[in-house]
Amino acid sequence: MDFESILEKCAVIGIDVFFLSLFYKLYKEKSNCLKDLKNAEHFELNSELLKNLQSKGGCVPYAVITGKVKAISRPLFSEHFDLLRGVIREKMTNEHKIRWVPSLHIWSSTDNNIKRQVANVPFCLCSKGSLFQRKICVEINDPFSAEELVLSEIFDDFKKYDESFGEAVLGLLSREHVVGIREVENMLLEDTSLTAIGKLTLDNETMKMGVPDGNRTYFLSPLSYDSLVKKISSLEQFYKGLTILMCAVSAILFAYFFKKGYVELRRRIIHARDLRRCQEARKLRRETDSSSDSETAPKCVVCLENPVEILVLECGHACLCLNCSEHVYTYCPICRSAVHRLIPVFMP
Ligand SMILES: [Zn+2]
Ligand SMILES: [Zn+2]
Repeated sequence: MDFESILEKCAVIGIDVFFLSLFYKLYKEKSNCLKDLKNAEHFELNSELLKNLQSKGGCVPYAVITGKVKAISRPLFSEHFDLLRGVIREKMTNEHKIRWVPSLHIWSSTDNNIKRQVANVPFCLCSKGSLFQRKICVEINDPFSAEELVLSEIFDDFKKYDESFGEAVLGLLSREHVVGIREVENMLLEDTSLTAIGKLTLDNETMKMGVPDGNRTYFLSPLSYDSLVKKISSLEQFYKGLTILMCAVSAILFAYFFKKGYVELRRRIIHARDLRRCQEARKLRRETDSSSDSETAPKCVVCLENPVEILVLECGHACLCLNCSEHVYTYCPICRSAVHRLIPVFMP
């Protein structure tokens, strides 16, 4: 087994172990997240919440609340629809290009982000409440640290770019054309129903939801609690399946390389034993040989000088001397069939 072959095997095992550990890590993450979600305390946004929180010492490490998004002060307005108000606004300008891929001989399209602007204002989650009822609100901290926060796409416009003749020629030479510019506006709109899962605290009668301690995940999701649990559970099952698959691949690879290594080791042991027997046979022949015998004895087909001492298996050609046999490992010099063993021959 040469150095390159060992390196190749190590690379294959390395890639396999990398994916196995990656999928296992993702599976453990989702599994722990699911456990935390199932142990989280549920609270209703009602007049009892403040008292409830005070009775728990003003802090719940992992709590679930659902409410409607409301800006604490002045909301943000959409730049395209005056009536739309929100608390997070993201504007993106993407350049849509087509590029020639020489290896595949095709034009592929790509979206290149050339500008991104994000604005946000402080917001809270409020209970529905009626006109005569005071709304109960929980302030939301660090919304960008939360997972599953999806903004609604409220504007998407694609403008085709008119290439001049010079630009078209330049595009052909550089194998890259700008097709158009896409402008997108996404917002977290007011009155969107959100499920917030994180650390619930009380700060001077203001209830706040923020990033939980430890490895717990902070969620702000438009999905309901049950749908979120279902989603994390299916992700956990998906990564579990991939981990099991990678375990099976690892087991097959280890078994295959172990068998190959064992066969190679066995071949080397037999080869070393055959060589020893050859040397003993040569010594014996030198002691008994007469000069006339060595003249008439068949010669090695490689050096054409020494008498034949080695038989090639499986083809059965007795065609090599001991010296030349040490350089013939793979193919028989007469019929080019694969060499399985080289064994000494004893001429009468
Ligand atoms: Zn020879
Ligand atoms: Zn042969």
